[in-house]
Amino acid sequence: MARRLGHIQKTHPSDFEAAIAGHLAQDVADISLRQGAEVTLTSVFAVDKMMASKPEIDHAQAEGITIMGGWMPIGVVKGADGRATALRVMQCEAKMVGPRLEIKKIEGTEKDLPADLIVSAIGQAVDFTGIEEFNSGKGAVAADKNYQVTGQPGVYAGGDVIRPHLLTTAVGHGAIAADGIDQFLAGIEPGRRPKIDVHSFDLMRKYLEKGIQFGEVKGATLGTDKSKEVVHNYENRSDRYVIPHDQLFLGHFQYTARNRRHITHLNKDSALGNFQERIDPLSEAQVIAEAKRCMSCGQCFECDNCVMYCPQTAVYKVKKTETMTGRYVATDYDKCIGCHICADVCPTGYIQMGLGE
Ligand SMILES: Cc1cc2nc3c(=O)[nH]c(=O)nc-3n(C[C@H](O)[C@H](O)[C@H](O)COP(=O)(O)OP(=O)(O)OC[C@H]3O[C@@H](n4cnc5c(N)ncnc54)[C@H](O)[C@@H]3O)c2cc1C
Ligand code: SF4
Ligand code: SF4
Repeated sequence: MARRLGHIQKTHPSDFEAAIAGHLAQDVADISLRQGAEVTLTSVFAVDKMMASKPEIDHAQAEGITIMGGWMPIGVVKGADGRATALRVMQCEAKMVGPRLEIKKIEGTEKDLPADLIVSAIGQAVDFTGIEEFNSGKGAVAADKNYQVTGQPGVYAGGDVIRPHLLTTAVGHGAIAADGIDQFLAGIEPGRRPKIDVHSFDLMRKYLEKGIQFGEVKGATLGTDKSKEVVHNYENRSDRYVIPHDQLFLGHFQYTARNRRHITHLNKDSALGNFQERIDPLSEAQVIAEAKRCMSCGQCFECDNCVMYCPQTAVYKVKKTETMTGRYVATDYDKCIGCHICADVCPTGYIQMGLGE
């Protein structure tokens, strides 16, 4: 951003009073759009170990930013007027040991980087003004597995305020907290969360959506293929493991190239004053094309191969009234001779021999 904004030649007192990025940015952009500040970024990690994606690092370097990997700030050098004139740095080796950052200084490597402006971008913190009671004492909000704030029943929190991470993480916290809030309002003790909180395909939900309800299973469950109260010939493995590629019939799929996002590459000069998106989102047509590459691993995608190739006509399409996503074909075990052909020709790995054992 500092590079893109330009170089501060003329300053207003208000720039410093309201040292808010938005205000400062506006003034800088107005004053000297195409001057171009020489920007140096220091990181305690080596460049290839920095906590940034490779395209971000490549873009920054292409746009003229010098990245000094393996350097740590140790002080700010000030002039007679009390303003910073340089950042004092020294070389270091940094690594994460679990959640802890370990930094080893390399003595004798100290040097000053002359600077007009030093921007500290070393993390984020929560402003607890007015909500002090939620401070865990470690500058964050502490919450349990259901995202209920520790020691505050009925209060839920998620996202960066718990631990700065990704947008999707914050969305996931929200989803889990919503479950917890629902249980709290219903007066139910929150249940244990699964080790890995995934949302997978749920056939029972599809049945409910279709208005099909099951009765009660009474007595022994042997001979269930005749029972109307259970789903016969179906087992959802997706909530337990990922179907590996060697269980797919890959010959069924044509190679289809991935739909990649368009990336705008800028150089040192064209970066100035340029705030356009660097990585464009996929268009609607591209998103649909990308979704069509899905191989539906482990779920039936209604290709009819098994119905066509079964020599015993043992595989049949389930009745129209019972058909739904995930419920398309079933096998009549009285006819099946176990030849394995259906499993071999199933592109998605949906058919597994020996189910029901
Ligand atoms: C520079 C940067 C780049 C990032 N890049 C990515 C990325 O590429 N991909 C990715 O997935 N994530 C990225 N993240 C992380 C992502 O932005 C956050 O994890 C996510 O925004 C967290 O969402 P949140 O709702 O918890 O918090 P926020 O998005 O911070 O929302 C908190 C909201 O609460 C408001 N607020 C604060 N205090 C109060 C108060 N007292 N009263 C009322 N409202 C208040 C704030 O104004 C804000 O609107 C990036 C973060 C940063 C800083
Ligand atoms: S194992 Fe053979 S007989 Fe049995 S359903 Fe599959 S293809 Fe048909
Ligand atoms: S079970 Fe497999 S082979 Fe049969 S229709 Fe579904 S995806 Fe096709």
